[in-house]
Amino acid sequence: MSNSKPNILLIYTGGTIGMVKDFKTGVLKAFNFNSLLNKIPELQLLDCNINTVSFKEPIDSSNMNPEYWVQIAELVETNYNEFDGFVILHGSDTMSYTASAISFMLENLSKPVVFTGSQLPIGDLRTDAKENLITSIQVASLQKNGIPVIQEVCLYFEYKLYRANRTTKINAEHFQAFDSPNYRELAESGVHLKINKKYLFKPEANKALKVHKNFNNNIALIKLFPGITKNVIESIFNTPNLKAVILETYGAGNCTTESWFINLLEQNISKGIHIINITQCSGGSVMMGHYETSSNLKSIGVISGKDITTEAAVCKLMYLLGEDISKENFKNLYEMPIRGEMM
Ligand code: ASP
Repeated sequence: MSNSKPNILLIYTGGTIGMVKDFKTGVLKAFNFNSLLNKIPELQLLDCNINTVSFKEPIDSSNMNPEYWVQIAELVETNYNEFDGFVILHGSDTMSYTASAISFMLENLSKPVVFTGSQLPIGDLRTDAKENLITSIQVASLQKNGIPVIQEVCLYFEYKLYRANRTTKINAEHFQAFDSPNYRELAESGVHLKINKKYLFKPEANKALKVHKNFNNNIALIKLFPGITKNVIESIFNTPNLKAVILETYGAGNCTTESWFINLLEQNISKGIHIINITQCSGGSVMMGHYETSSNLKSIGVISGKDITTEAAVCKLMYLLGEDISKENFKNLYEMPIRGEMM
């Protein structure tokens, strides 16, 4: 067993967590992350060595995009051998998207990558940032016989550790801002840090980390509603360079049986456009063929997103489109869990 303390890399991308309020003006501004240890002396009590690195220009997470995802993945890649765990500070608004994207990018990950953030800035008296940050670092430091306990991308917020690609932001006001409706939490922090071992992702042993950096964002996301018009759907399918469409359908993957709708989908599938069926419900799964209102989708070759979140569905789609995959394999691969993102 190794006696040395785990080395943790803290990556600050932006968001409320890394801000302090200017007491004179009341304006929130990013603070210098190099002085983090002075601002939060509690961090020195943790049983690990912490190094920090920050985006040159920290961003509000509403400005996130695949280019920033590549920057984050490269920070993990270039520091992978020197560090035992990674904590990524990120605005909460799009954290589930980024964390899902990073989970697809990092194939064969065998170390913890923990995303966290906060609803109130770290300098605020009532902040949730300190607990989120301190416990995230503890989670990233957990080892058993020198091997990291967590070997996947996860998200820690308000006493719960979730698999990142199962999360969604559910509240803009409460400290409990995230939920994982279709997968149990990986750990819960109370008096003790309780790990739900049987829910942890087990990567294949001894495989080298492979970082995938090609995302193809020529996709669209359509949320169906009663009365949606043919014009709207047609104009989306006429988008130049469009490669795939995610349909957010009703309940267990159901939609209108009107012939104009089904014909339009069928024509586009035969042109090579991938169509993915995910549910608008926050919990539960698509089961195509269970009702008459989804059996047409199944017979024309629509891909089932099963119980995937919208965030993970978008990121998995951009990731798979960026890989060189044949049309036949695409459906099989999309319908298979590759990072624990679906049942
Ligand atoms: N708008 C902020 C962001 O997502 C909110 C937060 O940090 O939680 O960057």
